Amino acid sequence: MILSLPAGTARHVQVRRLQPNDVITLFNGEGGEYTARIQHMGRSDVQVQVETKSEVDRELPFHVSLWSGMIANERMDWLLEKATELGAAKVLPIMAERSVLKLKGERADKKLAHWQAIAVAASEQCGRNRVLQVLPALSLSAALMEATETAPLAHRWVLSLAKGAQSLQSAITSLSSLAPKAVILLSGPEGGLSPEEEARALAAGFKPVSLGTRVLRAETAPVAVLSALGALG
Ligand code: SAH
Repeated sequence: MILSLPAGTARHVQVRRLQPNDVITLFNGEGGEYTARIQHMGRSDVQVQVETKSEVDRELPFHVSLWSGMIANERMDWLLEKATELGAAKVLPIMAERSVLKLKGERADKKLAHWQAIAVAASEQCGRNRVLQVLPALSLSAALMEATETAPLAHRWVLSLAKGAQSLQSAITSLSSLAPKAVILLSGPEGGLSPEEEARALAAGFKPVSLGTRVLRAETAPVAVLSALGALG
């Protein structure tokens, strides 16, 4: 099959100064990847011959939906990039009571497209052939209602500084012995979850999980969990 690469991908090929007959790897986000040979390089368009498909899969052994309290600009961008590299399946930005960033309407749509583009670029960079999906932001109550229907069996963790939260190690141990391997991971924004939000999460079956004695930044905490899950192999 001969394919004209979409503009962003074509630019990538141009910047890398690839030549006709060079081989590249393509993916369409639906799993697996393809080798393709460059046929023609125009000024802005690149045509390739798609050759073989390989069913390689680079996902985590766990399907992780990260519910992150929405955090301010670059830090949220950073979180999306790292969550993609580390294998989260989905990110649901939570409009938490203490979220500094509040978005509505057109600005919310633009931000969502911006975040999704970060996930695509990070997938390309790290060789992940499925793309993390960024969902439109919801309040915690709305997210909890939706999850009751769409993910009733997922394990639920809330990253919490409360005394008595179980260690990440013990949370992971209880995971590996139980099916299904789906986790919803809720973490707070810069100012943390409000006591009401935390109580609502607990009432909805979220188990408090601690990452130790230091207060981590909102973008650090979920990354620590994803890297621990990735390290399980
Ligand atoms: N000032 C806030 C701190 C928020 S830190 C407060 O006192 O609540 C942002 C989020 O990261 C927290 O809401 C929590 O979900 C997560 N987090 C940070 N450090 C953590 C730790 N040591 N263990 C578990 N979760 C942590």
